[in-house]
Amino acid sequence: MDKKSHHRVLILGSGAAGLTAAIYAARADLAPVMIEGSQPGGQLTITTDVENYPGFPKGILGPELMEEFKKQAERFGTKMVFGDVTAVDLKKTPFEVTVGKDLYTCDALIVATGATAKLLGIPSEKLLMGYGVSACATCDGFFFKDKEVVVVGGGDTAMEEALFLTKFATKVTVVHRRNELRASKIMQDRAESNPKIAFLWDTVIDEILGDPKNGGVVGVKLKNVKSGSVQDFKTDGVFVAIGHEPNTKLFKGQLDMDEFGYLVTKSGSTATNIPGVFACGDVQDRVYRQAITAAGTGCMSAIDVERYLETLKHQH
Ligand code: NDP
Repeated sequence: MDKKSHHRVLILGSGAAGLTAAIYAARADLAPVMIEGSQPGGQLTITTDVENYPGFPKGILGPELMEEFKKQAERFGTKMVFGDVTAVDLKKTPFEVTVGKDLYTCDALIVATGATAKLLGIPSEKLLMGYGVSACATCDGFFFKDKEVVVVGGGDTAMEEALFLTKFATKVTVVHRRNELRASKIMQDRAESNPKIAFLWDTVIDEILGDPKNGGVVGVKLKNVKSGSVQDFKTDGVFVAIGHEPNTKLFKGQLDMDEFGYLVTKSGSTATNIPGVFACGDVQDRVYRQAITAAGTGCMSAIDVERYLETLKHQH
C-alpha cells in the first residue's frame, strides 16, 4: 500500500445521493472523504434537462446540477478523491476501503455507488459499442445528425433518449419487446406525438449489423417475438435504454442484497446488515430511482452516520 489514512466517514460514489450525504456529513463536522468513482457526478451527468428537481422551475442540465451539489459539499469541507474503489473489507473495524494502491479506513461508511445502464448482452453490441452503438444519447446523439437511429426499450429512459435524439436524427425508431410502454404517461404522450418517432412493437434486436473498422453500424436484425419473423432493418445507430443494474459487486458476501443485487436497507433507515455501513441512492432503490429520492436518502444516511458515531463514542 502506498498511502494509508483513517477517517470518521467515507462516502463511496459522487452522484446525487453521495453528494447530499457529503453536504450533511460535512456540515455536521465529520470531515467526510468521498471516493468519486469512475463516473464522477453519477448518472445525472449523462442526462440532459432535469425538469423535475424541485427548486428549478425552468429545468437544469444534469451535469450542471451535480456541479452545484459538488460545490456545496466542498464548501463545507468534503475531501474528494478521484478514483475507483477496488476492494472493501467490512468484516474488519475500522472498515477498510482500497482505492488502487491506497488504503482508507473509516468508522462509518456510506455506500452511494449507484446503478449502471444495462446492455442487451449480444456479441455485436460489444463489438460495435462506440461505433454506432451507445447507451447514452446525451453523450453520443450529436454524432447522428441527419441519420436514422433505433432506441431499444419501453421505459422513461427510452422515451427520453428517443425525444432527445430527434434533435439530431431524421428518424428515431423505438424497438420494444412488448406492445405496451412502461414509460410514464407524460413521456409516452410526448414520444407518441413526435412526428420523427416511430414504434416497432413486440420486437427485439437479434443482432446488430456492421463493421467497427468500416463505418460502424449499418442495420439491425429484428425479430418479432409473437410471429417469430426476422427482418433486417437499416439504421445508423442503436441506443440501448433498457434499465439499470446496481453497482454492488464489491459488496457481495458482505452486505445483504435483494434478488436483483440492490443493497437491502432497514425500513425507514439507510442501515445495512452491518452496523456502521449505510446505503443510499440508486444502489438501494429499485423503485423510485430519482435524483430527488437519491438526495433524500443521501441526507438520511448522513444523519444515520452522525447518530451511529455518537453511539460509538458512548461505548468507549
Ligand atoms: P425501466 O426498468 O423502467 O424500463 C426498462 C425498459 O427496457 C422496459 O420497457 C423493459 O421492457 C425494457 N427491457 C429491459 N430489458 C430488456 C432486454 N434485455 N431487451 C429488451 N428490452 C428490455 O428502466 P428506465 O431506465 O427506463 O427507468 C428507470 C426508472 O427511472 C423509472 O422509474 C423511470 O420512471 C425513471 N426515469 C424517469 C425519467 C423522467 O422522469 N424524466 C427519465 C428516465 C428514467 P418491459 O417493459 O417489457 O419490462
